[in-house]
Amino acid sequence: MRAECRQASTLLHPDAGHVLSFDREGRLYTFYDDGILYKRALDSSLHWRRRENGGPRERGVLSREEARKVYQKVQHFVERGVRELDPDCSERFRREVLPWTPERLLAEKERFDAVYQPIAILPPDQYFSVVVQATEGCTWNKCTFCSFYQGRPFRAKTPEQLKEHALAVREFLGKQLLLRKSVFLGDGNALALSRSRLLPIFEVVREVFPGYPIYSFVDLYTGERHDPADWGELRQLGLKRVYVGMETGLDELLAFLNKPGSAAELTEFVHELKTAGVAVGLIVMVGVGGREYAERHAEATIDALAQMPLDDGDLVYLSPFVEHPESQYARDRQKAGLHPMNSEEVEAELQRLALQIRALGTRAARYDIREFIY
Ligand code: SF4
Repeated sequence: MRAECRQASTLLHPDAGHVLSFDREGRLYTFYDDGILYKRALDSSLHWRRRENGGPRERGVLSREEARKVYQKVQHFVERGVRELDPDCSERFRREVLPWTPERLLAEKERFDAVYQPIAILPPDQYFSVVVQATEGCTWNKCTFCSFYQGRPFRAKTPEQLKEHALAVREFLGKQLLLRKSVFLGDGNALALSRSRLLPIFEVVREVFPGYPIYSFVDLYTGERHDPADWGELRQLGLKRVYVGMETGLDELLAFLNKPGSAAELTEFVHELKTAGVAVGLIVMVGVGGREYAERHAEATIDALAQMPLDDGDLVYLSPFVEHPESQYARDRQKAGLHPMNSEEVEAELQRLALQIRALGTRAARYDIREFIY
C-alpha cells in the first residue's frame, strides 16, 4: 500500500491492479480497477472505460446502484489506507477522504443539480475547466444531428444571477479548484451575446475566478456579430480560445445538416479572431454525410483549413460522427440514400485527415463526444 499526497490531489496505490485518486476535498476522482478505469463526474455519475486484448474500447455509465457498489469498494481501500499508511499520509486520508461514504458521494448529485443545468458537452481540453453557465441552451438549436440542448430554450443569466451561480460553483468545487485551470463559459453559444451584455459577464468571472483564462463555444451566424476590436477587448479580459463547430468545409453538406454559414464565412471569421489575438478550436465531424460525401467532405475541409491563418496555438478536433437514430439527421440521411461509414472507415478517415491537418502546421486531435465528462 502506497500513497502520494500531492498539493492538488491524493493518490492511493493499494497494489499493482488498483490506483485511486481524490481531489483535495477528499472526493473520488478516478479509480483504476484491474483493467477498468472509472471516472467520477461532478454529479457522482460513474463513467467506465476498458479495452480488452487490444480490442475496441468499451465505455459506459453505471446506474446509481452499480456506482454505489464501486464506491463501497473504494471505501474499503480507503479504510485499509488509513490503517496501513505511514502516519503523515494516513492522517490526510482520515481527515479528507474517509468522510466521503458512498451515500455522501451519491448525494453530490443533488448538490450538482442545485448549481448547474445539465452540461451537455465541452471540448476535450476543457474537461478540466470550471464551467460557468452564463447562458443556457444554444442560440440556434436546429442542426439536424444535434441533441445537446433539445427542449432547453436559450436564455442568458443577468449579472446578478451569474454572480450567484459563479459563487455557488466555487463553493461546490471547493479545493477541487486546485485541479482546474481555466473557466469555460457555457452553454452552447455564450459569446453570441452583445458586447454590452458580455462585459459584465467577464467582470463577474474575473472577480470570482481571478487569473483564470476563459474559453467558450461560438458560432458565426446567430446573436451579435462582434468586430475585431470587440474580440480584442474580450481577449484583454481573459478570452483565450473559442471553439467553433465547423463540422465540414463543404457548404452543400453544411446545408444538409441545417447549419447556416459557409466555409468562406468561417475563414473570414477565423481571420478576425486571429487578428484580435484569440486562438481557435475548430471541430470537424468525421463520417458525417456517409460514404457518399466522404471524399468531397474531406477535400473541402482541408481546402478551407488551408485558407485559415492557423498556427500551433490553434486546434482542429476530429470528431467521429455519432448518429442518433431518433434525429432529423437520421431521417434525412435515409431519405437521401446516404450510407453511414462503419467505425473502421471513420477511424481510417480520421487518421488521414489528422496527417493532412498537421502538414498545414496546426494541431489535430481526436474528439470523441462519448468520452465527455465534467
Ligand atoms: S449550433 Fe451547435 S449546439 Fe447549436 S444546434 Fe448546432 S451543433 Fe447543436
